[in-house]
Amino acid sequence: MTTPTAQLRTAALTDKFGRPITDLRIAITDHCNYKCVYCRTGNEGALYSDLPFADYLRLARIFVSLGIQKIRLTGGEPLLRKGVVDFVRELSPLRGADGSPLELALTTNGHLLAELAQPLKEAGLQRVTVSMDAVDPDRFARITRVPNGFEKVLAGVRAARRAGLDPVKVNCVLLRGFNEDQIIPFGMFAREEAVVVRFIEFMPLEEDRVWSPEVVVTLDEILRRLAEYRPLVEIPHARSETARRYRFDDGIGEIGVIAPVSHPYCGYCSRIRLTSDGKIRTCLFSVWDHDLHAHMRRGADDAELADFIRDVVSRKEERHHIGEPDFVPASRTMVHIGG
Ligand code: SAM
Repeated sequence: MTTPTAQLRTAALTDKFGRPITDLRIAITDHCNYKCVYCRTGNEGALYSDLPFADYLRLARIFVSLGIQKIRLTGGEPLLRKGVVDFVRELSPLRGADGSPLELALTTNGHLLAELAQPLKEAGLQRVTVSMDAVDPDRFARITRVPNGFEKVLAGVRAARRAGLDPVKVNCVLLRGFNEDQIIPFGMFAREEAVVVRFIEFMPLEEDRVWSPEVVVTLDEILRRLAEYRPLVEIPHARSETARRYRFDDGIGEIGVIAPVSHPYCGYCSRIRLTSDGKIRTCLFSVWDHDLHAHMRRGADDAELADFIRDVVSRKEERHHIGEPDFVPASRTMVHIGG
């Protein structure tokens, strides 16, 4: 049974370490049309099912009533899911318990963004993050294992800017010996295309288990490389923000570095995730997930689902254990969580 959200108890979601949980990521499909070498084995196909949009919407309403302020749609590749624009249109009017508008963002590989940027903006999407691991078309094709993707993604980035999805962020995962020579070209790209380029340290969340500490290109190294090109000035950032932010000394071009490996920010984590098949993950590195949708299928009403969410969130892990002897791989890899 659906309860008007105002009738739910509205104590903000907080975990047992006192972290307020305000940021929800929803994977709306487990399918992806790219097979990035550092993420996937190269096999086609999804492992997990997805839910009708009506179910994500009902759950999103409950999460928002509990204090979620920002929803990011992800996947798999979210733009593969037919009906994504209508889903954004249904999410965008949601208001927090205090009446504040929801922040609505989406992470995509950008392959289908050129056609969808404007409709998504009109439906109420505010921001988009495009994943892009090289600014060289041949390298891009070798990484994604899809021919001619670079031109499509570049067109998507430009369409997103034209549509006013602001800011457009471009995320690049760096792997040593693979694409760290793209750091300075990406610095130039940030300036030329007026996008925020964010470098991400590679985490052990890939299907093929190729991660080792030596492959990670760290924050310090990224900043050193960029400074060879132009001096950077740090921009103050909120502690719960994943990225440390910098701009070039002349004010043109913003760079972010997301450094979960060398500079973990778990103490300020404000995120939880809903997988495409309706399970809550309290950490990227969780070794189990919590089947919210099973409760819904069994007929739980909104108040019961809210209680389940509150209980799961309270038990969020304190931190990840990347690089430590007791590290246990996550029960799902990145493509099946959503980043
Ligand atoms: N398909 C969408 C996309 O490409 O952005 C959303 C899902 S994708 C799994 C989300 C992000 O996770 C991408 O930016 C991808 O590069 C990043 N990613 C995948 N595996 C990663 C890993 N092992 N470490 C860090 N980031 C990773």
